[in-house]
Amino acid sequence: MLSKDMVQLGSRRSTIREIFEFGRKRAAIVGRDKVYDFSLGNPNVPSPDSVKNAILDILDHEKSTAVHGYTSAQGDDNVRDVITRSINKKFDTNFTKDNLYMTVGAAASISICFKALTNPGDEFITFAPFFPEYKCFVEQGSGGKLVVVPADTENFQVNFLEFKKRINKRTKAVIVNSPNNPSGAVYSEDTILKLVSILEAKSKEYGHAIYLISDEPYREIVYSGVEVPYITKYYKNTFVCYSYSKSLSLPGERIGYIVVPSEMDNFKDTYAAVCGAGRILGYVNAPSLFQKVVAKCVGQTSDISIYETNKNLLYKGLIEMGYRCVEPQGAFYLFPQSLESDANLFCEKARKYDLLMVPGDDFGCPGHVRISYCVETQQIINALPVFKKLAEEYKK
Ligand code: PLP
Repeated sequence: MLSKDMVQLGSRRSTIREIFEFGRKRAAIVGRDKVYDFSLGNPNVPSPDSVKNAILDILDHEKSTAVHGYTSAQGDDNVRDVITRSINKKFDTNFTKDNLYMTVGAAASISICFKALTNPGDEFITFAPFFPEYKCFVEQGSGGKLVVVPADTENFQVNFLEFKKRINKRTKAVIVNSPNNPSGAVYSEDTILKLVSILEAKSKEYGHAIYLISDEPYREIVYSGVEVPYITKYYKNTFVCYSYSKSLSLPGERIGYIVVPSEMDNFKDTYAAVCGAGRILGYVNAPSLFQKVVAKCVGQTSDISIYETNKNLLYKGLIEMGYRCVEPQGAFYLFPQSLESDANLFCEKARKYDLLMVPGDDFGCPGHVRISYCVETQQIINALPVFKKLAEEYKK
């Protein structure tokens, strides 16, 4: 007998993937430039040349067995050393390689944290809108329960009123994602300070740590100089889950890390639990070649300025047409209100124009749609008249 949960998970594509596949089929019929696919968060900006140069340099100059062999489970010593030095320089922190665990991207980083922390009955709180995979990572992956705090749709910061109703003695951790997929919001320092003061008070009240898991694959993608607070500086029991998928446009290479600060309660055991979770999930070690590549490219990013160009074009265009939307401060998603209360019906109407967006329901935020603008700028220029036609349909 198979696991029913796994059969169900594997048989049903995510809504995002389903929309993307629909787009591929339509492109084969009507032509790629006639399909306005804003479904996937796959960076369209190439990796910097330094990535290719690093790969060639490593292959040319390092021993093949060292390049392609197993590394230690937590990652190559030198790689972790280089990366932590770079983090320290940037954020004025004090980490060593022993605070870092290399992973197969942010999805693995957060799954490992959930697995490392969960005991039966534990709850994990996240704030809508949220990355839909959290639910299966927490519930099927670790056996915990995901508790969702409804969105503050005014600005997509934390809805503290609703958060306070949900935090309780079973709360093991709170997951934040800033810059956010799908809203593009960046949590302000004020939001982080408020959140941290509640976590500190509640940890004390319940007599156990409530951890913060900061899922931050979009850290560098921010607009107009917005600052993304480095959360370990505000709250010691924070795991930082980072990935190079978006910053270096390497989503297919699967490379990232977890920071586990020494100041964290019970640090030695916590780091051991992270190693144990990586082991039980079968990750063995993060890809050896790409560990070395990201160490050589430390501190660099792809040309992420294109995302700001796209955001300005799309945001201004949609606002002029009467769409209502909070202006994103980062990531590469716009999250406007749908033009009818059911975002699924709205997306279906848009599909008639080969305009592909993702309903907000999957992100725990009905009545909104996600538009991924990590696409060619020309696609946005071509799509604006189509967004207008769609809006006009609702004015009739
Ligand atoms: N977390 C969020 C909020 C994301 O948007 C994504 C990917 O889109 C991930 C995690 C997973 O990223 P990775 O490719 O690094 O596993």
